[in-house]
Amino acid sequence: MFERLRKVLSSIPDALRYRQLSQKDIEKTLREFELELLECDVAQEVVEKIVEKLRLELSNAKFEKGVEPTEFARDKLREILSGLMSEGTKVDIFTLIDSKKKKGEPFIILFLGINGTGKTTTVAKFANMLKNKGYSVAIAAADTHRAGAIEQITEHASRLGIKVISQKYGSDPAAVARDGVTYSRKHRIDVLLIDTAGRMQTNQNLMQEMSKIVKVVNPDLKILVVDSLTGNDAVSQAKLFNQYTGFDGVILTKADADSKGGSAISIAYITKRPILFIGTGQSYDDMTEFNYKAFLDALLK
Ligand code: GDP
Repeated sequence: MFERLRKVLSSIPDALRYRQLSQKDIEKTLREFELELLECDVAQEVVEKIVEKLRLELSNAKFEKGVEPTEFARDKLREILSGLMSEGTKVDIFTLIDSKKKKGEPFIILFLGINGTGKTTTVAKFANMLKNKGYSVAIAAADTHRAGAIEQITEHASRLGIKVISQKYGSDPAAVARDGVTYSRKHRIDVLLIDTAGRMQTNQNLMQEMSKIVKVVNPDLKILVVDSLTGNDAVSQAKLFNQYTGFDGVILTKADADSKGGSAISIAYITKRPILFIGTGQSYDDMTEFNYKAFLDALLK
């Protein structure tokens, strides 16, 4: 995971190892670093921010005896990335669920995202995680457009022994979501997960449809699912949803296949929303809680 980004980030300290830091050296190193970050799918505006901050730190640095430029650069880089990634407030999902449960109300989570990102699989992984933690879960199949979508989520749910609330294709997704809420209240379900449509061709309609669901069911949490392999496209999707429906956190799928890792940094910084989990494979247990400090520790070893 993220091997390439790890290599790029360690290139900066390595480049400084035996050098006196002349301004010319700094500029040359930063230019190369900038290109490599872009190749790792770190978005342009984020690359600019990182490089600008690092330039300032390196230019002002006074290396006294015993201070290693390598260590210094690594520490500064960690500080900079940490600052960029920590702006979103952390969401403690389980505490939120528990407080709703105490009131005897289902906790409603709306999953948003473009088709193919791994949204349906992620809903199933999420359901599995909650079930393993002892919560009762139901799923509303509110993607009533894509052929096979209802069967796909129903198949996952039946493997996991979870109830799916659905209607036929072409039904109003907001009505399916509302049915899900009614069912969950009646059966004292702890958490309702709403799977939604994500066709790309009609962004405008998609956003209207999502906004309608939000209005009708007023979810407790909106989670955007993005595919880390799509790099800067994932960042554009995050911006789009941020603008229209908003969201409280992100799940970054397919991190197991992503050597670049730049979308994690970009999305956290650009949307100011936390990455909650990362998908690390195709089976139900392949989802891990994301912690940006551990992520940076692994990158800046
Ligand atoms: P949707 O169209 O967004 O609902 O996407 P699906 O849930 O159908 O997933 C699309 C493909 O991505 C499927 O083959 C999934 O098994 C795969 N997938 C989903 N999440 C992950 C992940 O974290 N890692 C890997 N390697 N594959 C994933």
